[in-house]
Amino acid sequence: MGDPYRVKPGQKVKLSDIDPRDTDALGSEDEARGRLYLDATAIDTLQDRLYAEGKRSLLVILQGMDTSGKDGTVRGVFNTTGPLGVQVTAFRRPSEEEMAHDFLWRAHLAAPRRGTIGIFNRSHYEDVLVVKVRKLVPASDIEKRYDQINAFEKMLTENGVTILKFMLHISKAEQRERLQERLDDPKKHWKFNPGDLDDRKSWGDFMDAYETMLHRCSTEWAPWRIVPADRKWARNAVIADVVRKTLEDMNPTYPKVSWDPKSIKIV
Ligand code: AMP
Ligand code: MG
Repeated sequence: MGDPYRVKPGQKVKLSDIDPRDTDALGSEDEARGRLYLDATAIDTLQDRLYAEGKRSLLVILQGMDTSGKDGTVRGVFNTTGPLGVQVTAFRRPSEEEMAHDFLWRAHLAAPRRGTIGIFNRSHYEDVLVVKVRKLVPASDIEKRYDQINAFEKMLTENGVTILKFMLHISKAEQRERLQERLDDPKKHWKFNPGDLDDRKSWGDFMDAYETMLHRCSTEWAPWRIVPADRKWARNAVIADVVRKTLEDMNPTYPKVSWDPKSIKIV
């Protein structure tokens, strides 16, 4: 399938030029769903090997506007993966304890243990997104954070963490529909947060912040991918494909034991 979604280091991105409904690389929906099923199963097997090997880990970072499908991705791509080896961390408004530290502290604390897959539902990137748009810290501080993030992620990769970053790219029109669904369905009311509408009002500012983030923080060691996310099946298919291939490239191996299994008799 190639890797048409990857942002090259230093590449300038214009999100309005990228179609959130693009499925060109995917074939038909049925085919994509078939591959998703196989990928999810393969990810489960590879995760087992990663866990057995116990030396490295995978960190999957999901960013996107409200309703872009971060939770849905966790469900759709990682539901087959055994819960033993996967840890999902949701990044919400920082607690008092978190606020008392540098912005990367909580991300480092949540970094995946060796042998596991860590998923960040939102991440330290909120600190150059919502924090920037809402001007929660001075602009001069935000400016330093891109390099700080790159250095942090480099340090992680040099210590055995492979990092994948996905920006779930939805259109403003699709978000409108999904927010409306949340209002219409009593079972989805809990997901609706009136504050989300403020973010929607600042859509343009968010897109600017995303573009800067994609431009400055897509590195050789931790690349961003922009995933067309208006169609849930396409979003899941793209992410599952990348995760599977990444784990295959990591090629975790079952450890060899230092004793001879044949020499052991169970009585
Ligand atoms: P949700 O993902 O729907 O549970 O919402 C989490 C909320 O926390 C979103 O509105 C984020 O913008 C917000 N949030 C996450 N990280 C930060 C941060 N570092 N500073 C301020 N707000 C944040
Ligand atoms: Mg929300």
